[in-house]
Amino acid sequence: MRKSDIMCIDLCIENNYWFLFRGENLEGSNEIYDVIIIGSGPAGLTAAIYSSRLQLRTLVVAGAMWGGQLMLTMEVENFPGFKEGILGPDLMDTMRRQAEGFGAEMIFEDATAVDFSSKPFKVTVGSEVYQGKSVILATGASARWLGLESEARLRGRGVSVCATCDAAFFKDKKAVVVGGGDTAMEEALALSKFVREVKVIHRRDELRASKILQERVFKNPKIDIVWDSTVQEILGKQKVEGVRLKKVDSDEEFELALDAVFIAIGYKPNTEIFKGQVELDEKGYVVANNGTETSVAGVFAAGDVHDYRYRQAITAAGEGCKAALDAEKYLEGI
Ligand code: NAP
Repeated sequence: MRKSDIMCIDLCIENNYWFLFRGENLEGSNEIYDVIIIGSGPAGLTAAIYSSRLQLRTLVVAGAMWGGQLMLTMEVENFPGFKEGILGPDLMDTMRRQAEGFGAEMIFEDATAVDFSSKPFKVTVGSEVYQGKSVILATGASARWLGLESEARLRGRGVSVCATCDAAFFKDKKAVVVGGGDTAMEEALALSKFVREVKVIHRRDELRASKILQERVFKNPKIDIVWDSTVQEILGKQKVEGVRLKKVDSDEEFELALDAVFIAIGYKPNTEIFKGQVELDEKGYVVANNGTETSVAGVFAAGDVHDYRYRQAITAAGEGCKAALDAEKYLEGI
């Protein structure tokens, strides 16, 4: 063993840096960041751009599948600044580089636990614990999928979870929306502006959606409802060509020929690790008041992790900006 190694071991033991011997990352465990951002969709990365440009020491726990829902979409045509549109993954890559350019550090692993009970706040990533004076929650929400093999295979090829994003690709075509809640009604109404005909496939004989949205759907001449039916398979090899449906109260199966399937059976906020740490509503979304403040001072929320109403990349990005500015204000006061 070299002398320098022995000195290092002495120093490590003296400072209780025992984990060095397990090959863990010393820097990650001892640094106290000004801001730790959990999540790397438009909300998280915009927060990172703002906070790092404000010269706040910023760590982004970006996740193993970094970039959020836009990584699953093709063309994004409604994000301001891109006249010809931009591919979702390209947009996210640009945001990531912009944040890194201002000095934001990134970890491409999932946060596995958080502890907001004392300060500095702690964010665990596997065997590492990172400390932050403030934390921005931007883990987003994930659309629920039916779980069919054909649905996964044809995702981005006519199967979508966002009419606002993708309806314009199906001008004068035929589409179905699966689901009976507010999201499904909004998706059907949004689609009706582009497509020739929309069918809503619902598994019951009454809708869950609010009356006002139901009425709009019933009045819309382009929208029909297929009651008491579930999707068994989405048909098509390279792109969507139809669906095979089954009546819930019999074995009767039938097919519809069409071009697009929009799944709208709800969203699930990615808040599992925040349970018991910040207030969540009955559906699991982070409760945010006064903009981006959560129930814990110094912990902020941005984007779909608390916003189930707008769910757009641009609104999430706007909230990421707000959260970073709110974190800066908070840090000035502590
Ligand atoms: P939701 O209210 O939970 O509705 C989900 C729908 O999908 C239900 O009709 C459900 O059927 C159906 N579904 C669930 N799993 C299914 C499966 N495996 N196969 C087939 N169908 C399935 O979800 P949401 O519509 O996304 O709304 C979520 C929340 O956001 C709600 O509180 C809603 O009011 C709110 N929201 C509000 C607005 C607005 O105010 N403008 C817009 C969008 C959403 P069942 O009915 O049989 O359970």
